[in-house]
Amino acid sequence: LSSLQGTRFAVLGLARSGLAAARALQAAQVDVVVWDDDATRRAQAQSHGFALADPESLDWHRWDALVLSPGIPHTFPRPHPAALAARTAGKPVIGDIELLARSRPLARVVGITGTNGKSTTTALIGHILKSAGIQRDIGGNFGPAALDFRPLGRDGVYVLELSSFQLELVQSLRCSVAVWLNITPDHIDRHGDLAGYVAAKRHVFDNQQEGDVAVVGIDDGPSRQTAAGLAGGPGTLLTVTVGGADGAGVSVQGGRLRDACTGAEIDLRPIKNLPGAHNWQNAACAYAACHALGLPIAAIAQGLATYPGLAHRQERVAVVDGIVYINDSKATNADATEKALAAYDTIYWLVGGTPKAEGIVPLEPLFGRVAHAFLIGISSDAFAVTLEGKIPYTRSGDLKTALQQAHEMAQRERRRDAVVLLSPACASYDQWPNFEVRGDAFRTLARALPGATVETG
Ligand code: ADP
Repeated sequence: LSSLQGTRFAVLGLARSGLAAARALQAAQVDVVVWDDDATRRAQAQSHGFALADPESLDWHRWDALVLSPGIPHTFPRPHPAALAARTAGKPVIGDIELLARSRPLARVVGITGTNGKSTTTALIGHILKSAGIQRDIGGNFGPAALDFRPLGRDGVYVLELSSFQLELVQSLRCSVAVWLNITPDHIDRHGDLAGYVAAKRHVFDNQQEGDVAVVGIDDGPSRQTAAGLAGGPGTLLTVTVGGADGAGVSVQGGRLRDACTGAEIDLRPIKNLPGAHNWQNAACAYAACHALGLPIAAIAQGLATYPGLAHRQERVAVVDGIVYINDSKATNADATEKALAAYDTIYWLVGGTPKAEGIVPLEPLFGRVAHAFLIGISSDAFAVTLEGKIPYTRSGDLKTALQQAHEMAQRERRRDAVVLLSPACASYDQWPNFEVRGDAFRTLARALPGATVETG
């Protein structure tokens, strides 16, 4: 960021990415002030030597840009007053990813966006690159902030998970490989409507040049339109479909990945940590991205096969006498739990918490896969009504009791390919601070079961 030396920036929002931005600006000898509405975060920043100033009350004619955390609304439902003040004075409102772009990194950038599967695909690409011996850093929306990446040379790769909020705040990012997974309506409150949400995500393709690659999942309408809009652009378009008819790019049929360009085939079904069709989409997009980066097919196949999985996302935490215990605590709504229920055949299901409006009603078509449900948390009454007469259930109350009961039943019944699955379809706040703590507790409890083993490799 040396080109910014002597300029004046304000940073609003002092969580992980905001603090990293402030540090990077300070290191580049930018005159920087920071702010957060939370007094504890302000005090923390001050103790690290940052000057505090509320960007709402700055004389914006004397400042050069506002760096905003992606969590802060700056368009819908209404702009944050600081963003309004900066824009009224004609000053740009940007995010940390834009600062990374302006630092002109030598490493190539792979940017990953979409409604679902971003973290998995980012981690998967990161794992494949690492196992192929390529220097890479992964982060952005999850993991380390982008401005905490190590400096890497031309052979290195930055693998960046990009949310729609982050993409709204970039202007000059160039992704050598841009990955677009899928679109379903989400975060519409912050983008006005579906078109606004899609438009924000499309920034991932901005600034692509000849030789760059756009990998686009085309299994939903808005994504197909996005792919069509890219045809004829500077980058090479590579489409990905799971179960779809278009076999032109990378396609997956019945768990078998096929690359129409090279004829390469990879069987995804035996990969333990990528279960379910949704993960095949992530795997196919990761394959396409790594192929675009020039990795040999054998190295990609090897990386896919050894992917260790991400915590709390269908994470295999223990095995007891052939029964697998799976932590899917990240599934805080029915949509996410649907993916887990679809991925296994005989499920002892730990479900419940702080419910979403739709409850578990949308999951009814998958109830046939559930051997027994163990109800946890304040959703128990409502979920019992949905399950009544369809699946046998037990009101377990809390996670520990539910796991013990599920464990005993699964071990007693000894059904083939059975799993004990925590996939709550609910937020955790009734009994836990967040989904991570809930999932960590499940992992610890499962590993403490008599005879529990942990799979490796
Ligand atoms: P994100 O980072 O986009 O939130 P994650 O990789 O953390 O996505 O996955 C979150 C949840 O979304 C998973 O537990 C799974 O239920 C679901 N999911 C993952 N990949 C996909 C996909 N390609 N399509 C639909 N749902 C997915």
